[in-house]
Amino acid sequence: MKIPELFKNHKPVFSFEIFPPKKDGSLETIYKTLDELVDLKPDFISVTYGAGGTVPGGSTREIVSVIKSKYHTESIAHLTCVNSTKADVDRIIEEFKESGIENVLALRGDINPEIPPKKDFLHASDLIAYMKERGEFSFSGACYPEGHSEAGSLEEDIEHLKRKVDAGASHLISQLFFDNETFYKFLDRAVKHGINVPIEAGIMPCVNAKQIQRMVTMCGASLPPKFTRLIARFGDNPEAMRDAGIAYAADQIIDLAANGVDGIHLYTMNNPYIARKISESVSEILK
Ligand code: FAD
Repeated sequence: MKIPELFKNHKPVFSFEIFPPKKDGSLETIYKTLDELVDLKPDFISVTYGAGGTVPGGSTREIVSVIKSKYHTESIAHLTCVNSTKADVDRIIEEFKESGIENVLALRGDINPEIPPKKDFLHASDLIAYMKERGEFSFSGACYPEGHSEAGSLEEDIEHLKRKVDAGASHLISQLFFDNETFYKFLDRAVKHGINVPIEAGIMPCVNAKQIQRMVTMCGASLPPKFTRLIARFGDNPEAMRDAGIAYAADQIIDLAANGVDGIHLYTMNNPYIARKISESVSEILK
């Protein structure tokens, strides 16, 4: 099933994100994780793609295909293009078709200063435009409630997002954020710019202080005082921080659902315990 169809059946859609095992990891680990995640009945699961060859793209393809065929759950393959040529993408398109993959989260990927980007695809919208001509895929795209780090302004970033939607992205998933007001303002900007595809809110349960620091450095999400107080108080106590992080994420989800968002995309970090705790605490709300 193409992902936008899910939004016609019910709102909010509730989806999970997982990542493939690191380079030397076995796929068996991820299947154990999936056994538990699928039990929580997400509407779909997306699988990340390592930029710059950090994780072989083949494992993303295999996992996405297994989620659909063995776990009977809809799935999305993330695909980055910053380090790909057209020939690489042609090969991936054929592999996706052979594996029955219909849904692609088309991404540019982060630019690694040590690997000069290839020139064939400058933006995610270029990847969508290219693949659209070569297969019956449904495309999702990434969006940034606080703006992408390279964009000159929020206004410029949303104009680029509109181009991505015009190129063929029919569903968007947001970068993580900790302040729902940021997301609501972003939704207003999106509507004003004529972006009318379903937009899912990306929620990352932050359950330890180190992870929070890493996430904030990586994606530039701002931390509201309510959240920094929580880190200051519980950051040194792993169990308390875990519980507080789970409760904070659940609280964000409840508020988003109350405001009628299209969907919630939970960055599970391959942690079924956290995904279960959150899913159970919002199960009636997301029905
Ligand atoms: P783009 O949409 O191409 O945007 C990148 C920058 O270019 C932005 O500043 C934008 O404003 C600007 N821009 C866009 N179009 C144009 C244009 N036509 N003209 C001029 N400027 C333009 N990374 C991975 O490596 N693997 C993953 O699996 C992965 N999954 C992700 C999932 C989600 C939900 C999100 C939010 C991010 C994910 N990322 C992943 C990170 C992502 O690759 C980076 O954020 C990357 O820097 C931007 O990718 P993009 O597809 O948003 O790029």
